[in-house]
Parts: sequence; C-alpha cells; structure tokens
Amino acid sequence: MSSHTNGDYGEANQVHVRTGADYLNALNDGRRVFVNGQQVENVATHPLTRDYANTVASWYDAHHDPEYRDIMTFVDKDGVRRAKTWFLPTTREELESRRIYHDTVCRMFGRSFFGRMPDVNNAIFLTYIDDPKPWEENTVGYDAAGFADNIRSFWAKMVDEDINLAPAVIDPPVDRSRPEAEAESPNCRVVEYRDDGIVIDGVKAVATGTIFADWIMVGVFWRPGMPEDQVMYLVMPVNTKGVTLLSRECLSRPDVSEEEHPLLGQGDELDNSIVFDNVFVPRKYIFHLGNPEHAMYYPQRLFDWLHWIDLVRFGVKTELMAGLALLVGDGSGLLKIPATASRIADIIRFRETIRAFRVAAEATGFTTPGGMYKPNNIQLDFGRAFYQENSKDIINELLDLSGRSSIIQPAASDFGEFGDLLDTMLRGAWKDGKQRLKVFRVIRDMFLSDWGDRGRMFDQFNGTPLNTIRMLTMHRTEFQPNGPMTAFAREVCGIPLVEGQGTVKEQVAAYVRAQDVKTE
Ligand SMILES: Cc1cc2nc3c(=O)[nH]c(=O)nc-3n(C[C@H](O)[C@H](O)[C@H](O)COP(=O)(O)OP(=O)(O)OC[C@H]3O[C@@H](n4cnc5c(N)ncnc54)[C@H](O)[C@@H]3O)c2cc1C
Repeated sequence: MSSHTNGDYGEANQVHVRTGADYLNALNDGRRVFVNGQQVENVATHPLTRDYANTVASWYDAHHDPEYRDIMTFVDKDGVRRAKTWFLPTTREELESRRIYHDTVCRMFGRSFFGRMPDVNNAIFLTYIDDPKPWEENTVGYDAAGFADNIRSFWAKMVDEDINLAPAVIDPPVDRSRPEAEAESPNCRVVEYRDDGIVIDGVKAVATGTIFADWIMVGVFWRPGMPEDQVMYLVMPVNTKGVTLLSRECLSRPDVSEEEHPLLGQGDELDNSIVFDNVFVPRKYIFHLGNPEHAMYYPQRLFDWLHWIDLVRFGVKTELMAGLALLVGDGSGLLKIPATASRIADIIRFRETIRAFRVAAEATGFTTPGGMYKPNNIQLDFGRAFYQENSKDIINELLDLSGRSSIIQPAASDFGEFGDLLDTMLRGAWKDGKQRLKVFRVIRDMFLSDWGDRGRMFDQFNGTPLNTIRMLTMHRTEFQPNGPMTAFAREVCGIPLVEGQGTVKEQVAAYVRAQDVKTE
C-alpha cells in the first residue's frame, strides 16, 4: 500500500488540489462523445452536459473552501494537503473521517442522487493499491512482469494529478440462459498481444459518468462462460484514439425554473456505452489479463469501497425521505392521526435500519493485507440489498402520504395573479401554502421525474444488484457446506466434516479471502 496517502500529519507545507477551472479546461480534449444523438464537441460547455460538468468542477472547488477544509482534505506524510479521495484509512477513526467526507459530498452535490462523483469513482482504486501483487501473479497468457508496479505508478499519477477515474466493467446483455453467449457477444476483448501492449476491440455496455471523467478503468464483471481474451483490467484516458462514448438520453432539465424543479437543473451524470475500435493500450497501463478464475472472485473486491459509499449515500437519501415524510405529515395534519403517523414511523424505521447496517459494517471492519481498515463487506452488501428490496415500498408510502400534491402543482408564475388563493389552498396545517409546496416539488423531482427514476435504477442496479449480491454471497468460502457456517449445524446433527471434500482454504485463494471480512 502506498504510504504517503494515509495519516493526517498536522499543518501542510503545500496544498495540492486541482481547481474546478483546471478540471473544466481538461474536458476539452477531443474526446468523442454522443449525447441525445448529437456529437458533443466540448463537454464543459455543451447545454446537455455543462450543468453536471460544472457540478464536478464545484466538487473540486469545495476542497479549497476553508469552511470544509478538514472534512474535504487531509495532510499526507510529506506535508502536502490533498483531497480526501486519496486518503487510505488504517483505523476505524480514519474510516469515519473518510465516511464524513463522502456523506458531506453526497449532501452537497445531487442531494444523494449522484452516485459517481469523483470521490466515489476513485474508490475503485483502493483495492488495487491495497494489494497490487495478485493482479500480476494471476495473469495468464501474457508476460505480466511489472503489472503490480503499473498499479503503484498509476496510483501515484492519480493522486498527483487529481484524476477522476470512471469504472467500466459491464458487458452487453447477452442471452443469460446460455453461457456460450458471452463468447459470441461484442464484449470488449484483446485482439492483439504485443510486447509493448495490447489492442482491444468491442464494447463495454454500461458505465456511469465516463463522459465527465479523465480516465477509464476497463475491467470485467465475471459471468459464466467468459473467455480469457475478455478478461482485462487496465486504464486509459477518455480521449484515447478509437474510444467513443455513446450516452443514454440526458434527463436533467436545464430549461426549467429552480423554484419549480429544485433538483432537475443540477445536471445528469449520464450513463453510457463505450465503443473501443482497435484501441492500443500501452503495457504500463495494464494491471491484469486473461484469468477468468481471478475475475470470478477477486475483482468484486474493487467494488467493496464503492458499495460502502453507496451505503453512506443511502443513509443520506433515507434521511431525506424520512425528513420529507415528517414535513408532509406535519403540513397535512397526518402526523396527528395515529394510523398515518405509524406509516411515517415505518419510513423513519427504514432510515434507521440502513444506518444500522452502515454502523455495523464499520464497527466490524477488518485490516486488509495492505493495512487499510475496511468495512465488513458482507454487512454493507446486505445493507444495500435491504435498501434495494424495500426502498420501492418506502418511496411509494411517501408518495401515497403526499397524495395529489406530489404531482399536481401550480406553476411558479401562477402565484402572480392567484397568489393569495393558492397560498390558502395549499397551506394545509401550515400557515404558508408556498412553503408547503416546496416539500412536494422536491418529492416530485426525486420520485416522479425521469431524472429521479434513473436515480432509482442506479440504486437498484449499479455495481451489484440483488441477484448478484446473492450470487456473490454463495461464492464466499465461509458459506460453503464444508465451511464454518455449518460447524454448529454439523455438531447438532452429529455430521462431521468429510475428509477429502475440500477445505475452505482450498476453495478460494488466500489473497481473495484476505479482502473479505473474517467471519471464520
Ligand atoms: C443507472 C445505471 C448505472 C450503471 N452504472 C454502471 C457503471 O458505472 N459501471 C458498470 O460497470 N456498470 C454499471 N451499471 C450496470 C450494472 O452493473 C448492471 O445493470 C447490473 O450488473 C445488472 O446487469 P443487467 O442490467 O444486465 O441485468 P441482468 O443481469 O440481465 O438482470 C435482469 C434481471 O434478471 C435477473 N437475472 C439475471 N440473471 C439471472 C440468473 N442467472 N438467475 C436468476 N435471475 C437472473 C436479475 O435478478 C434481474 O432481475 C449501471 C446500471 C444502471 C441501471
């Protein structure tokens, strides 16, 4: 693990954090981007992309704000003040410090609806830098000498240049019922192996925020039937020759009034496909190639840190939902009616349960091979699963308690001629109808807009959806029939471990288990 990015060592002798202006200038780099079918020449200035680009620029600038200095930055071993996205926590207290950072960013930008600000994207690299060797040692079919050093050098570059690195791992959606379909699909694959690097060709089907990133981390999410030539973990600049980004439709609404739509004008982080047309990747940017067995187990651990931040974000989002429910209940008198008050209690209970998963994951964290203090990845995944399973009902409760007001709202300009009437009509149990309307305008943007619906899909699918959490649970060594989870059941039944059945240690390599919380 890199040593200069952990610890908070007092006063800084220099500050090294990129500015928002530098970030925006860097976006104008000739990258090939299509949004709504139009080619975007400059992401920083095009009407469909500039709002989110400005949001990311504000993210960089927030690190320079003296009021947030201690939350957003830290001082490294060399006395350099850096963005906390580069901070490697080694204790629970340091993890807490990093958590407060993500929590703050999430409240500031997108109000819990942006899942891939740079602090989240860059967390993909924490597992790499924690233990770079397995990527090199498990490469198959190519001379991997120096791959671990490639990881170390790229980390130093990321930290130094304050890079925003977006992960792209998901392949096209093939026929799930046929493992051989993976080999037939246009999944990105290596088409040429050279001494100085490789050439890749094909598609990564989904990646969030690549259009606004500096670099792409290309990886794979293992699926049954994945052939060796599709297994790759590497990085490249977004403007690399032969790379094209095809975005889904932009769902933010820069044209609407902030009063009517308090969230829709904040921009859209955009999810996109990436087409690689015979792209050359120099050797120094390759971390691993060719081993589906490695891809099946280890790279999931790259997402552990992202998923922990997801759980932090769910904590913020559920707090917002509970707060809105209380305001709705207060403004409509429903809080005074036991039947509806108890429904609001359920929304609060949901929020507290999500928080409990997060607290538990942090409290039962563990030390990784590289010395990082990492949250318990089983508990944070189960917290995410709990959110995915139950949030739809909680959202529906909030909408149901809001009634017609969540969708039937006057225009801001209607208050000119009809202000007094509307104010009286809308005030419910409050004195001021216009104030009460603000609550419902936020609820509409969050849950009754295309932009909000995309946020719901992101929460349900990004990284690992419920089905994948189940699959990954059953990949874990301690949950195998000859693992420790059955020890008590075996004792009760009087069934001993069967010799030669394979021990837990034999099933999954030690380097993989070292990134999982120890429940053995
Ligand atoms: C808004 C959004 C943003 C995203 N951002 C990123 C990103 O930045 N980077 C990235 O790499 N990926 C990203 N993803 C992709 C995401 O990781 C995938 O959507 C996810 O892995 C699920 O794959 P899928 O969409 O193909 O669904 P599928 O895997 O096809 O699942 C569809 C349904 O079928 C079920 N199912 C599928 N297979 C089985 C099976 N074998 N047995 C039983 N049930 C099954 C699932 O439970 C689900 O209900 C994003 C997705 C969304 C929606």
